[in-house]
Amino acid sequence: MTSHQGRCQCGAVSFDVTAEPIMSGFCHCLDCQKASGAPHVMHVAFPEQAIRVRGETRGFQSPADSGGTVTREFCPICGSRLFGSSTTLPGMKTVHAAAFDDPAAFSPMMTVYAKRALQWDQVAANLPSFLAMPPNP
Ligand SMILES: [Zn+2]
Ligand SMILES: [Zn+2]
Repeated sequence: MTSHQGRCQCGAVSFDVTAEPIMSGFCHCLDCQKASGAPHVMHVAFPEQAIRVRGETRGFQSPADSGGTVTREFCPICGSRLFGSSTTLPGMKTVHAAAFDDPAAFSPMMTVYAKRALQWDQVAANLPSFLAMPPNP
């Protein structure tokens, strides 16, 4: 089976994923901007059980527009952002694309929270774009 490896900047946390993405996309939401220090991030979503993590992460929880709670996990040593999950999407976990050893293995399928995209950060005009989150499948 395909296996994708990744790690934080310092290497204290590493992981592998044995699944293909459920979805992937750019997120321009304010929480992702604040958490990453970047104008958008690219998340790649997988079934949670397909992600095996070595090393310890810390998580920060915040309320989501959905009414659920989002947890963003990061390396407690170097601060690299690694994973995300939401109580409204149980069993699914997102990985920050740049945490993979080969981020180019994944392509974005959509843009979410396009309403928060900065005017100098208009990426991927060719992708399906949602003002906030797409409707639940
Ligand atoms: Zn680290
Ligand atoms: Zn976001």
